[in-house]
Amino acid sequence: MTPLIQIDKVYRSFVAGDETITALNGVSLTIEAGELVAIVGASGSGKSTLMNILGCLDQPSDGEYRIGGKSVSGLSADELAALRREHFGFIFQRYHLLGPLTAVENVAMPAVYAGVASDARTRRAQSLLDRLGLGSRLDHRPGQLSGGQQQRVSIARALMNGGEIILADEPTGALDTASGENVLQILKELHAEGHTVIIVTHDMQVAANADRVIEIRDGRIVSDERTRGSQGGAVSLRPLDEKAVGRFSALRQRLSYAAPMALRAMAAHRVRTFLTMLGIIIGIAAVVSVMGLGEGSRQKVLAQMSELGASTLSIFPGRDWGDERAANITSLVIADAEALARQPYVRGVTPLIFASARVRSDHASLTANINGVGPDYFTINGIKLISGRNVTAPGPEKREQEAVLDDRTATALFPGHQSPLGRIILVDRMPATVVGVVQRPRSASGDRTLQIYVSHTNVSGRVSGTASSLGGLTVSVADGIDTGAAERAIVSLMTRRHGLKDFYVFNSDQMRKALERTSRTMTLLISSVAVISLIVGGIGVMNIMLVSVTERTREIGLRMAVGARRVDILLQFLIEAVLICLAGSLVGIALAFGIAAVIGDPEGEMPMIISLQAVAGSCVVAFLIGLTFGFLPARNAAQLDPVDALSRE
Ligand code: ADP
Ligand code: MG
Repeated sequence: MTPLIQIDKVYRSFVAGDETITALNGVSLTIEAGELVAIVGASGSGKSTLMNILGCLDQPSDGEYRIGGKSVSGLSADELAALRREHFGFIFQRYHLLGPLTAVENVAMPAVYAGVASDARTRRAQSLLDRLGLGSRLDHRPGQLSGGQQQRVSIARALMNGGEIILADEPTGALDTASGENVLQILKELHAEGHTVIIVTHDMQVAANADRVIEIRDGRIVSDERTRGSQGGAVSLRPLDEKAVGRFSALRQRLSYAAPMALRAMAAHRVRTFLTMLGIIIGIAAVVSVMGLGEGSRQKVLAQMSELGASTLSIFPGRDWGDERAANITSLVIADAEALARQPYVRGVTPLIFASARVRSDHASLTANINGVGPDYFTINGIKLISGRNVTAPGPEKREQEAVLDDRTATALFPGHQSPLGRIILVDRMPATVVGVVQRPRSASGDRTLQIYVSHTNVSGRVSGTASSLGGLTVSVADGIDTGAAERAIVSLMTRRHGLKDFYVFNSDQMRKALERTSRTMTLLISSVAVISLIVGGIGVMNIMLVSVTERTREIGLRMAVGARRVDILLQFLIEAVLICLAGSLVGIALAFGIAAVIGDPEGEMPMIISLQAVAGSCVVAFLIGLTFGFLPARNAAQLDPVDALSRE
């Protein structure tokens, strides 16, 4: 029958500086299933090194190790982890319990990596602790337990996945005599139940409990004595059973364990976690605010443009804005407006005559801008009537004397909430009846001049006294017609009529596009600065995660000893990095909303509109930053050597 454990001429040497220490010097040993073996020797004789090799935590430099007849040489880190998980239970001199976890959580941990469901884990951990006399200490943390109790917790942990072979390295070394006796008693009971128990000790009295005592000195076995009849061979190796769970549910299970663990690790260092997040918080808040500002100003511009009227072209005399001769150009006339109105691509035309005049009511006298407009003017320019009606379309002979006031002029002329409708005012020397009040569109320049709208025929005839030339024409383009094409058609028509191009066209659509382009460029520019701050934040996360891995090296070693795969460790730290970044991004988003609430009034100077895309986008970005910058630390953790990690202070 194949022995449970068989090592043959095993060597293990360590390179320390320029000397090589040979800790094991050709050890050969066979242990049958069900034996209770003590390995004794002075300090430094190689006991722990042997134990680590037996427990598949370490591999021999030379020689063969067969477990259940199968060689372990050449197995990958994860295959060794599987062997440890399925067959071994470790008991360490200094317990190696995880401080932040309760007794139950410590005991249940190995089953996580064996793929046991959460409630089944807890139940088994509770019953093991109960059995070891710790039923009343289930939710205590290691710090709240005595040494003997902690060692019993670690025995329960060793039994969690079965613990067929129990490896105890100086299990009583840190305990008082009574607790030590108690631990040995438990180990003897486990042996009686069929567990193979291997105890490493320098204490001959402890060794006296065993059926077989192997003495090791300077890496060599010097004696191997059977003190009692062995029950060897009673138990054979349990076959390795990898739980047949799908990849997806395995991943889900790992996440559901690792995520709360990560949250706990974050909660354990609240201030540090917060400071780590700060870079992400500031970066995300900046990105979201800037995007909000960009969107806000874009929409503001769009709103202004649509108040200006969708798809309108304005024609003014002169070569371009601010042409000084414009005032002397009188070729733009009503006949032009009429000709344009007949074009198929034109929906409506409003002639504009501007003048400035004194306006008097019974209560006040003031100077206002007089706008001579056509019936379409308010619609085209998106001016809203508050009360009353528009000036009516006058025929050339029928000179209706009607006026519409803007809200400011109305209050100036008729103070004290009187309705101006139906009242007579004097515009220059022309009496006119007020027929409506309009709300003037908010203008970006904050223009506060008073505006009065009268029919353009009235202005040209009665107010300015000038001839019938116009201050401008506003053409609204028919639906579905490209404003560019309409503009070209108008230019050629008007040039033909005037014989030369003594006018210029202002295209609101092109203006809108230009404004949108500018605001997009600005957003892109500021966003790229914010992205740099996010990268800096990510580097901060990476830095702290590297520190965290160093601090938790022993925890990592322990998790590996009880059978965590590399990917388990990798995921644990990756999830922590991602959670830090996600939490940071949520705080950053909240901050951005706060900024929006304080300075980003949608009606104000700096409107801020935070879109759902911006919020979702920042979460995705934070997730990716966590993955990217968490990967290096997590990989460092996953690549640790279990023995090395366990012995780290
Ligand atoms: P024991 O457990 O019997 O006290 P160990 O097996 O821990 O002894 O160590 C045996 C020898 O190997 C000692 O001389 C120790 O210094 C050396 N040794 C153990 N581990 C390492 C290591 N990782 N690097 C260098 N030397 C080591
Ligand atoms: Mg030792």
